[in-house]
Amino acid sequence: MNASERDELYQELILEHNKKPRNYRKIDNPSHAVEGYNPICGDHIYLYLKMDENKIIEDIAFEGSGCAISKSSASLLTMTLKGKTEQEARQLFAEFHDLLTGKMDLQKSGHHLGKLAVFSGIWQYPSRIKCASLAWHALESALKDGKKQVSTE
Ligand code: ZN
Repeated sequence: MNASERDELYQELILEHNKKPRNYRKIDNPSHAVEGYNPICGDHIYLYLKMDENKIIEDIAFEGSGCAISKSSASLLTMTLKGKTEQEARQLFAEFHDLLTGKMDLQKSGHHLGKLAVFSGIWQYPSRIKCASLAWHALESALKDGKKQVSTE
């Protein structure tokens, strides 16, 4: 895939997930619930998780409002992490973080990003990195200390 093909795919997927976000709902009795806020753009999300006793993410969903990038990133996050273990979720966050900061070479590295790779061009737009990573920071804070609120600032 060349760069312009990838850009096209990137835009299509982001617009599609913005219009029809997956797992856009509340979870009753979640094991983790975190609010994430990105003041620079105004993105505001609530992330819900239900983790079972084996640390497997049984269910994951989100609600909120924000730009297309923050919403599609949260949508793809929930799709990607459903059924994964906490360990796998942490690994994916590390890979996604490298992708957003331009440290990941998709051609070379053995990664597990799948569709998340559509955000590969975003490091060129530093102000949007926080939009794309908001849901992931919310996830990280939920896994780390069950914190109820996280800001990208
Ligand atoms: Zn945003």
